[in-house]
Amino acid sequence: MENPFKSTHFNAIGPYLQKKFGGRVAKLSIDGGFTCPNRDGTKGVGGCIYCSDDGGGHYASDITGQMELLSHKWPESKYIVYFQSYTNTYGPADILRKKYEEALARPDVVGLAIATRPDCLPPDVIELLKELSRRTYLWVELGLQTIHDSTALLINRGYPLNVFDEAMDRLKDAGIPAVVHLIFGLPGETHSDMIASVDYVAAKKPFGMKFHQLYIMKGTKAAEYYPERLRVLEKDEYISLVVNSIERLPQDITIHRVTGDPPASDLIAPLWSLDKRSVLNGIQKEFKRRGSFQGSRL
Ligand code: SF4
Repeated sequence: MENPFKSTHFNAIGPYLQKKFGGRVAKLSIDGGFTCPNRDGTKGVGGCIYCSDDGGGHYASDITGQMELLSHKWPESKYIVYFQSYTNTYGPADILRKKYEEALARPDVVGLAIATRPDCLPPDVIELLKELSRRTYLWVELGLQTIHDSTALLINRGYPLNVFDEAMDRLKDAGIPAVVHLIFGLPGETHSDMIASVDYVAAKKPFGMKFHQLYIMKGTKAAEYYPERLRVLEKDEYISLVVNSIERLPQDITIHRVTGDPPASDLIAPLWSLDKRSVLNGIQKEFKRRGSFQGSRL
């Protein structure tokens, strides 16, 4: 089998979007002012054990400021607005519509990426997303993290696997592309448990996948458990897991992230996460060393 991705070794979302839109497409990570039902008591309390106060939106900020900055750097750039922090479909459909429409009304915005939980996609929200996806480029991101219900309990994710399955079915029926997030290094999981999650998600044929390592942030439940009850992955171990995973993925699945990018001020471990460039280079080096690429082990 030929490597169609050349030096990137996988179907990275950046080049994919560039090709689709005929130029650079930047993602603007924003905080849409949502909360999360796993933190406010509706589905659970305390949130996922690794979740920090910003609900996962470490770099989310206001849309205008980001656009101004980027327009100086890349005047021709188009934008996808990424509703990143907390649960971005958690609210009445009319309020959601207002927020999404506001983002779409900005000049040069060509689409939306909406991060949410699988248990926050009721029929009226699916209808809204379906309608929007007919007139703009849109995908929904689901924070699954693991397929193992025993791990889901340990991390206080707040829903079992069948809820994810149903959400994927609803999105598929509505023709809405899904991007699924997985975390490697969750408590109690072996490498084969993690690869089982990769295979399970791949079999659902999502539009995209995101991978990152478990990291321990200040102020989280995970920080209370670390290091006595939680370990974190070594860098080489993580790199090997990412390469093993991508080699098993069909080539049409887009890869949206291969390492996390935590803010230095709040990170406790693993500290190698701070050198993102070195992790990315390590992944490319490992593909090169193996002579492998996305789908080469299928
Ligand atoms: S679902 Fe997301 S926002 Fe909610 S607690 Fe878990 S990680 Fe945090």
